Amino acid sequence: MAAQKSQVHFVLVPLMSPGHLIPMVDLAKLLAQHGVIVSIISTPLNTIRFKSGIDHSVKSGLQIRILELEFPAVQAGMPKGCENMDSLPSRDSIKDFFVAASMLQKPFELLFSDLKPKPSCIISGKNMAWTVDSARKFRVPRIFFDGMGCFSSTCTQKLQSSKVHEVVSNFQPFVVPGLPHRIELTKSQLPENLNPGSPDLVDVRNKMVAAESISDGIIVNTFEELELEYVEEFKKIKGGKVWCIGPVSASNKSESEKAARGKTVSLDENQCLKWLDLQQPNSVVYASLGSICGLTCSQLIELGLGLEASNRPFIWVLRGGEKSKELEKWIEEERFEERIKGKGRGFLIKGWSPQILLLCHPSVGAFLTHCGWNSTLEGCCSGLPIITCPLFAEQFINEKLITEVLGTGVSVGVKAAVTWGMEEKSGLVMQRGDVKSAIDKIFDKGVQGEDRRRKAKEIAKMAKRALEEGGSSYLNIEALIQDIMQQSLSSVEATS
Ligand code: UDP
Repeated sequence: MAAQKSQVHFVLVPLMSPGHLIPMVDLAKLLAQHGVIVSIISTPLNTIRFKSGIDHSVKSGLQIRILELEFPAVQAGMPKGCENMDSLPSRDSIKDFFVAASMLQKPFELLFSDLKPKPSCIISGKNMAWTVDSARKFRVPRIFFDGMGCFSSTCTQKLQSSKVHEVVSNFQPFVVPGLPHRIELTKSQLPENLNPGSPDLVDVRNKMVAAESISDGIIVNTFEELELEYVEEFKKIKGGKVWCIGPVSASNKSESEKAARGKTVSLDENQCLKWLDLQQPNSVVYASLGSICGLTCSQLIELGLGLEASNRPFIWVLRGGEKSKELEKWIEEERFEERIKGKGRGFLIKGWSPQILLLCHPSVGAFLTHCGWNSTLEGCCSGLPIITCPLFAEQFINEKLITEVLGTGVSVGVKAAVTWGMEEKSGLVMQRGDVKSAIDKIFDKGVQGEDRRRKAKEIAKMAKRALEEGGSSYLNIEALIQDIMQQSLSSVEATS
């Protein structure tokens, strides 16, 4: 059986967006750590982002390959070099980006037909609907990985089937039906697929939903103990093959792997670690709104001023590049950085942060996050209480998981989702006073604060155990591999 397992070959086709590519690369490592061969489909500029992390794994003996395809950005009407959703010039280019991504099908299939050993399975990321046809053509199973947790997937499905959100006004709370907990949301907080604001992406979304429903199984980046009732519910909805194999970020074991995750870090991480070393244990707020936050300058200033008003040490990660120019100008004019550095209280990271490395530093005491699923899970794995500041997609649903189901978080109180490309229409997303009071609450020394911290620590222990030999995610990865081996065997028998 062992000899056979070492010939199992997974081909991963990620959506080129940081929030999808990063966990896919982690997933590649995790699978390879279980002794199978993994190939990741990439494009030249995306490879640069994660190659050093993979090189590290390959040196340690893991069988991971990066297979490059040219990304047809120009042919699809985008500027040269646009290979990832975080480098799109504007929201208007999303459709072109998906057109380019679908043009990868032909070169992918050419490459695929020559792969050795013969691939056993395709793991397809979100929005790569064409992989359904490729998998059929090559008679291999296609497993779907969309990067959401079971709680948000279940809520989404319950809303899609009940349509309760369609008969209420924007800010009128409604209860999501059929859940083990009473979860209230408003229409204004829902992801675009449930609350279509602009019709331009309806086509893409429909294809995506159709592709999802014909997969041969689903991999979820979560661990069963985190959201057990919702894993069960999601399995019922999907009728079986759901493998919870996370947290995938735990595949990065050494400090250098943790620091090399995602993109090139925009500072010498030692500088930040040294600053953290000087802070009291559990005292620092780490604030980051993910990889594609497009909030306007005035919306972000509220966050900065709220962090400052909290009178606690903090790390604030600002998206670097063109979009942050105005904010950086404000920081300079207001002498914000000098002010907070002078008091020894703040550290700004302008660009990419080594997030999972910093979250596990003992001085960090809370995580202020936009509740992207990866960040949510990384916060859980670090044993930190969470300050929730959702912006779009399924982030408001993840907020409910953190604050109401897990009981490890406090909400800043964002009322409505912002739409990418139309952020200025949202007014102030959060007020500095609300940021400050959420931080005060999270560090509260009373019963509730202690309870949140205790629960967060317990969850981190469970996350660690899940991936250890015999843990739930460890066993689910083995079950997935066995399932794929079984399917390969059946397909060989059927064709012979
Ligand atoms: N991330 C990081 N450094 C940054 C910003 C983000 O390492 O400066 C990573 C973060 O650890 C997470 C991913 O990027 O793994 C972001 O995914 P998430 O689902 O949280 O949010 P998205 O960026 O997709 O909105």
